Amino acid sequence: MNKTADLIVVGGGIHGCAAALNSAMSGLSVIVFEKDTVARHASGTNAGGVRRLGRHFAEIPLSQRSMEIWHRIEDLVDDDCGFQNAPQIRVAETKAELEALRARAADVCALGFKHETIIGRGELREYLPAVAGHCVGALASLDDGFALPYQTTFAFQRKAQALGAKFHEKTAVQTVHRTGGDWTVTCSNGETFVGRYLLNCAGAWAGGIAQQLGERAPVEAVAPMMIVTNRMPPFCRAVVGAAGRPLSFKQMPNGTVVIGGARRGRAEPGSNVTEINFEQLRLSAETAIGIFPIMANATIIRSWSGIEGCMPDRIPVIGPSSTEENAFHAFGFSEHGFQLAPAVGEVMAELIAKGSTDAPIEPFSIKRFA
Ligand SMILES: Cc1cc2nc3c(=O)[nH]c(=O)nc-3n(C[C@H](O)[C@H](O)[C@H](O)COP(=O)(O)OP(=O)(O)OC[C@H]3O[C@@H](n4cnc5c(N)ncnc54)[C@H](O)[C@@H]3O)c2cc1C
Repeated sequence: MNKTADLIVVGGGIHGCAAALNSAMSGLSVIVFEKDTVARHASGTNAGGVRRLGRHFAEIPLSQRSMEIWHRIEDLVDDDCGFQNAPQIRVAETKAELEALRARAADVCALGFKHETIIGRGELREYLPAVAGHCVGALASLDDGFALPYQTTFAFQRKAQALGAKFHEKTAVQTVHRTGGDWTVTCSNGETFVGRYLLNCAGAWAGGIAQQLGERAPVEAVAPMMIVTNRMPPFCRAVVGAAGRPLSFKQMPNGTVVIGGARRGRAEPGSNVTEINFEQLRLSAETAIGIFPIMANATIIRSWSGIEGCMPDRIPVIGPSSTEENAFHAFGFSEHGFQLAPAVGEVMAELIAKGSTDAPIEPFSIKRFA
């Protein structure tokens, strides 16, 4: 077994896989360690929303870059990832909410981005004929979409493997330290591996790796919850959120409805356990019925939650270590990192293989928590 590589990646979620793929495309040899199995955590359990709508302003350039890649995802990973182009629509239930959305759209436009637009009461019903009568309008990003999380993450892994990246699953990285110019990592099976570069993509567990580099990263492990319903007649062809309450809502091509939107259960990252919170689940169901009255006829067939790493300011950590040379971070995607992964993978490969990137990643520096 080859125990050396140019790059060692900690974490086999979508960010570890996307960085591995892009680094392999740049000619680096790559080893990825995953303590469980690839896509076992947030990257496999998420809602699959491919959303530029409503992003933190600092994330918009990366999100735009990712969206361009999503539209040609099959060329990149030889798999369509279940990607469907669909509008993302954030519904206003009151005039005050619509005014707040209008102000946001103006701010985004002033930054030079044109993807968010206000749609009025009539146009909203053209996109969403089943929307509740009290909804007054919406903010929309019409060229967004959704994809299938497992299919996508495995596609990135497979393409990275085809280009030579090696994946070690059920293998946790326990310690990382620099010896001379290289990184030595010691794994749960006692083996050691050596790499020139180290990339921390450890999701909700990334704070422990950062700590070994002498860096503070207050990652909170959270457990957003999802609901899937029985198959319903087709009534919604957009991904729908709400301005005033948490919601992420989409009808899949097979008729089932997938509902999420940041209502949380309880996460125990030490034992990989999550618990569904029944009261919070009820609120999600109530919101869905409030926006789409047809949902009162739905039946829940499945519910789950996944472990995600959340930062206090709800934007990720992306960029070089502030303490150690040749170490990098991409974690803490705070419940919205699936859409960003194609671009972040490119950016990490640029940083590692070329030493710099033009992407505006300064706001994501780990230094902000020092
Ligand atoms: C229910 C839910 C719904 C979501 N919905 C959306 C959505 O609609 N749209 C969107 O854009 N985002 C969404 N997200 C967020 C998105 O899923 C995450 O931001 C993204 O998947 C994070 O990817 P990651 O690779 O950083 O983390 P992860 O997928 O968590 O991967 C990190 C991996 O690192 C491994 N690891 C940790 N420590 C070690 C170690 N020491 N050694 C080896 N391996 C280690 C873990 O086992 C894990 O597999 C959602 C998340 C959840 C949970």
